[in-house]
Amino acid sequence: MSVPVKAIRIHVFGGADVLRLEEIELPPPGKGEVLVRNHAAGVNFIDTYFRTGHYKPPSLPATLGNEAAGEIIEIGKGVAGFKVGDRVAYVATLGCYAEQRIVPVDRLLKLPKSIHYDTAAAMMLKGLTAQYLLRQTYKVREGDTILVQAAAGGVGLILCQWAKALGATVIGTAGTPEKAKLAKKAGAKHVILYRDEDFVARVKEITKGKLCAVVYDGVGKATFPASLDCIAPLGLFVSFGSASGPIEAFDINILSAKGSLFATRPTLNTYAASPENLAKMARDLFRVVSAGAVHIPLHATLPLAEAAAAQRSLEGRETTGSTVLTI
Ligand code: NDP
Repeated sequence: MSVPVKAIRIHVFGGADVLRLEEIELPPPGKGEVLVRNHAAGVNFIDTYFRTGHYKPPSLPATLGNEAAGEIIEIGKGVAGFKVGDRVAYVATLGCYAEQRIVPVDRLLKLPKSIHYDTAAAMMLKGLTAQYLLRQTYKVREGDTILVQAAAGGVGLILCQWAKALGATVIGTAGTPEKAKLAKKAGAKHVILYRDEDFVARVKEITKGKLCAVVYDGVGKATFPASLDCIAPLGLFVSFGSASGPIEAFDINILSAKGSLFATRPTLNTYAASPENLAKMARDLFRVVSAGAVHIPLHATLPLAEAAAAQRSLEGRETTGSTVLTI
């Protein structure tokens, strides 16, 4: 039997005012699926890409949201290893800004008791992203100097803490002095106010011309191609998002001119595609959070009905760390 649940949906692409709190019908979980009663859903920049149509949902209307945490309330056929009542968290494309969601069991992660639902919803997508960026895309090592753009953001504050724990010297950028303070507290040794200062000149100065082994850039248009000038020869440019707008097409020869650089545009979906790698990445994330090496910075918790306000703040550069919708 289907159940009615409240969800935040869009019927058209547009600004935050297109979000609607509506009742939708969820079918029972199918083979290999479970029904999760969500307690909290994370708010991410990617949610705004789906809302504006920069990323396309398979169809409209669509329920937004890509990560959540809650408890299993129903189990579909053929599900092993999970039972009703289990505390779980997950990253799954669309459908998470809702009281309940059907989740394929191969995307589910059991939550350690020490991790609260709000914290879990604040850290799955952003924390797993930090995991692959720091431990797979480029393996950060003791002694590396790295640049994290938008270091006080949701992903940014996790990157700073984790990279410091790995022994790196972190240079961060931030939009305001308050954000710079937070990034410093999270482990960035140097923070550049990139709206006021020339960040390339500052990186050259800080590193005494040696530049960075890797640049993690989720800002996109506004920091490209300047980010490339912060990378040492043979270093890596990681363009993992476009908070300021997508990077325009560029001539690949720019990478040779700037020191035989490597460049990648990674996504969590690729890295976490296999259930085995997803589980391994989650173990690594839960380990650093449970050990206290990484503290998940919860900027705000808002009720589900206020999803539009949460997205406006995120796009308006008003947030730091993570924002969570409580359900
Ligand atoms: P953030 O909390 O980092 O918010 C974005 C930040 O970007 C803002 O706070 C702001 O910080 C900075 N920014 C710079 N220019 C602009 C602009 N014009 N408009 C808005 N913000 C701007 O968001 P998230 O942590 O959710 O995501 C960070 C990035 O990571 C995003 O690009 C997202 O798409 C990407 N991402 C990529 C994933 C992947 O697998 N590829 C997975 C998860 C996230 P400041 O004011 O300090 O400049």
